Amino acid sequence: MADGATTTTNSIAQYDTRFFGHPRGLATLFFTEMWERYSFYGTRALLMLYMTHAVATGALGMTDAKAGNIYAFYTAAVYLMSLPGGWFADRIVGQRKAVLIGGILIACGDFCLASPGIPLYFAGLGLLMFGTGLLKPNVSTMVGQLYPQGDRRRDSGFSIFYIGINIGAFSPLLVSWVGEKVNWHLAFATSGVGMILGIVQYLVTGKYLGEAGLHVTPLDDPAKDRRQKRIAGGIALLVAVGVAAMIFASSKGWIQPTAESISNGLGVALAVIFIAVFGWMIFGKGWSAIERKRAGAMLVLAIGSAIFWGAYEQAGSSLNLFADINTNRHVFGYEFPAGWFQWVQPLFVLILAPFFAWLWIKLGKREPSSPAKFSVALVFIGLSFLILVPPSHRMGVSPNWLNTCYFLGVVGEMCLSPVGLSAFTKLAPARAAGFAMGIWFLSTSIGEWLAGKAGSYFSSMPLPKLFGISAVIPFIAAILLALLIRPTKKLMAGVS
Ligand code: GLN
Repeated sequence: MADGATTTTNSIAQYDTRFFGHPRGLATLFFTEMWERYSFYGTRALLMLYMTHAVATGALGMTDAKAGNIYAFYTAAVYLMSLPGGWFADRIVGQRKAVLIGGILIACGDFCLASPGIPLYFAGLGLLMFGTGLLKPNVSTMVGQLYPQGDRRRDSGFSIFYIGINIGAFSPLLVSWVGEKVNWHLAFATSGVGMILGIVQYLVTGKYLGEAGLHVTPLDDPAKDRRQKRIAGGIALLVAVGVAAMIFASSKGWIQPTAESISNGLGVALAVIFIAVFGWMIFGKGWSAIERKRAGAMLVLAIGSAIFWGAYEQAGSSLNLFADINTNRHVFGYEFPAGWFQWVQPLFVLILAPFFAWLWIKLGKREPSSPAKFSVALVFIGLSFLILVPPSHRMGVSPNWLNTCYFLGVVGEMCLSPVGLSAFTKLAPARAAGFAMGIWFLSTSIGEWLAGKAGSYFSSMPLPKLFGISAVIPFIAAILLALLIRPTKKLMAGVS
């Protein structure tokens, strides 16, 4: 800690360099997010396989189509919940408590999954959605709050944080092995134990966070603040009543919702929310001309991002099944779990992130703009699926097909994920910074939905076609985005 204790968080943070030159509080958030991602990716690696493997193995024995739709709903909802989760923290409880509540809900969710029975399975997924929605956006917001305005360490603070995310994402190494080789339920519990470690760590080292996440930020106009809270409460009530009514009606046999119809319903909701959000930001009252233009640029980037994640996030859905069914996983006579492919992406992230950080600095003035990098990202993710087309109709294929696919995808990720997050925070009006994070996660949510849907076609569509489509759509988007680089840069009005 700095000599001469000062009274404000900012001045404390400025002199606090105890975590690799960064405030000590960054370590607290780093490990919290690491354990949350440990739980998230551990559980995610199990879901498709647990749902599709035979009942005799203790799994659920569902068809790929049903499992893919449930997976699409769950993963899309997890990221969608970031929007209300961020709002709830900003206006009602503050980020500090929201992260704690989120962590507890996630741990409870994992332990529900660890218990037998379909009702607990779905209850567990529901808790994970709410918990992650409360934890994920708010822990990131707190990272930003550790640094005073204009502190040049902020961007590298986020890069260190991204390392924490990807170390956590190694969890399938343990969790998938437990699930596929020992017991599915024990594996979900293994995810839950990680989240508990994260919570304990967060509580014990919370004192290093200073003021970060402690304050609620009401709107300047108290009447407007009250109205907004009433509207939010109304929406929450409406959704809760709607869900309860659906459960009741289906228990009476009046309606027969299927996994497909429910996930399609969410797909429609995502499209409506997306259009409403951008319609408001471009045509709504109270924005300046520059803010509207920048919202236009965010729209272009958000569409690119949704398409990118729609392919990339198939790691957990169709590619997980490809690893399980089509890939030779024998090494020296031992068949390793399919879920072990889930830590290939984070491994490449850890290897490539320093290279890309160096590359952007090296390119200096020639560093491409965000839309140009997005276009490159889409080319790489397209390539990653294109190379899977030739082996996709075969069985027992070499694991290097998937490894190469993941390598190319992560090259794309490096051009899109950190770039997009930073561009969105700069493009959004300062008074809507948290909201910008929510829109970014909304584009991820749409991507997750698309990726889950792709998984639902794993058995019904020939794989060369499924992977071919997953390549062609990003390629088309890459070309369109390349054509839009100049106009988008204009819309960005000075932000690179
Ligand atoms: N892998 C990153 C994370 O888990 C990004 C995921 C995404 O936005 N689709 O946070």
